[in-house]
Amino acid sequence: MQNFDVVVIGAGPGGYVAAIRCAQLGLSTACVESWLNEEGKPALGGTCLNVGCIPSKALLDSSHHFAHMKHEAIEHGITVTGVSIDVNRMITRKAKIVSMLTQGIAGLFRKNKVEWLQGHGRLLSANQIEITPLANAGTEKTIVSAKHIIIATGSVPAKIPPAHVDQDLIVDSTGALCFNQVPRTLGIIGAGVIGLELGSVWKRLGSEVVILEALEDFLAPVDRQIANEAWKTLQKQGLDIRLGAKVTGTGSNNQQVIVTYQDKEGKHQFNVDKLIVCVGRKPNTEGLGADECGLILDERGFIEVDEHCRTNLPNVYAIGDVVRGPMLAHKASEEGVAVAERIAGRTGHMNYAAIPWVIYTWPEIAWVGMTEQELKDAGINYRCGVFPFAASGRARAMGETGGGMVKILGDAKTDRILGVHVIGPNASELIAEAVLAMEFDGSTEDIARTIHAHPTLAEAMHEAALAVDGRPVHI
Ligand code: FAD
Ligand code: AMP
Repeated sequence: MQNFDVVVIGAGPGGYVAAIRCAQLGLSTACVESWLNEEGKPALGGTCLNVGCIPSKALLDSSHHFAHMKHEAIEHGITVTGVSIDVNRMITRKAKIVSMLTQGIAGLFRKNKVEWLQGHGRLLSANQIEITPLANAGTEKTIVSAKHIIIATGSVPAKIPPAHVDQDLIVDSTGALCFNQVPRTLGIIGAGVIGLELGSVWKRLGSEVVILEALEDFLAPVDRQIANEAWKTLQKQGLDIRLGAKVTGTGSNNQQVIVTYQDKEGKHQFNVDKLIVCVGRKPNTEGLGADECGLILDERGFIEVDEHCRTNLPNVYAIGDVVRGPMLAHKASEEGVAVAERIAGRTGHMNYAAIPWVIYTWPEIAWVGMTEQELKDAGINYRCGVFPFAASGRARAMGETGGGMVKILGDAKTDRILGVHVIGPNASELIAEAVLAMEFDGSTEDIARTIHAHPTLAEAMHEAALAVDGRPVHI
């Protein structure tokens, strides 16, 4: 039987990063992974690289170029005629990016001497894992032992009974990343992060998109001022988002999906060429052997962990989407690093109060820390500074006149930054400054006194910080 210091189950951004960090710290490490890619070959990278962050961003970028050439290039004096989209080429490009990056992880495993165990891992005890080989790789199960186990089995798309996913007419997020043509009409269930991103891709390429959202509030977890701005912009782009709309059933007719939903005005029905179900994700513990070895899950199926990602079993940790907290790749990775450090006897660091969120619509939406509503609900006195991109020279030069803002919330007494919210071009990159400032326990005055290059979008962050103290220069 092979014996390792650490065996990681799952090679998504949580698991593969944890495995590499363990190996860097001198621990003998293996990583069990059961993913088979579209060609039926074993692949590393998990949801993020194969069917999540990376392929969705590849399509968002392709569709952004298309929409820009079609509708915005003219503003710059550039006439582009005959703009068309070759969907198969776009999808092939996406597949190549995924393949290159997933192979890159295999290279990193070799470089760091992480052993890749291809198969499905099942816990036999707190230090033994049974591995079932992948399809076409034999039937003989093996058992490995480990001093420490890190579970990073991620999540899978949630399902709802009224919309059964067949990956043909009704697809989940994975199916929506490989349509072979632009659907003329597209329905989406769920106006969350994934629904809005996928809706944006296909809308830009020409689909008529209807998004149904059960909640009355648009982007409920997002700061209201930012969500309202996003609502206006996305409506202007033609995304037909219907709130308080609960899907009650689906059927099919002539290669179309019939969708029925209920809102406060009653029952409604419409037909679409494709329907994407994006109603969230659920933790993946299927076939993990949790029950048999007494691993405790919470009532929603997440593996229960303490603040150090320790499960109830000795020396067994769990990280990423399979445990509480935001389902984000960078959260999974940082938990992986923190756990690896702790196993190696070092101090693991994980600051849950400074995890950035991004929605890659255009304009992008990004935030870190508390919203204005959360501050009010918690009775925290705060000061707020807002700077609109309409007043940013760089945004104007870029032709980014679609509105948006940076909003900074600081403690009224101490000036400590409590939350930063951005809707605007490149918000995904701009938020990094705010995360760093919060990580350093910075104040809004710290950002206000930091010199920002001109002309940049980041100047909006500077001006918003100045605005907290009532001294913005350009508004
Ligand atoms: P996963 O990436 O889900 O990896 C888990 C791995 O474990 C899988 O490879 C699985 O095959 C393997 N596994 C499971 N059980 C076993 C077992 N018993 N034995 C062996 N292997 C097993 N997040 C962001 O931060 N930014 C984004 O832009 C973003 N975009 C997204 C877009 C889409 C369309 C989707 C679906 C998700 C997106 N996410 C994004 C979320 C992100 O993908 C997840 O938060 C992240 O992948 C979680 O990482 P993880 O390592 O916990 O799990
Ligand atoms: P996220 O959690 O960001 O992936 O978003 C999923 C979204 O789907 C949430 O906003 C949910 O409110 C929404 N949702 C879940 N079930 C339904 C349903 N039956 N009909 C419409 N929207 C739903």
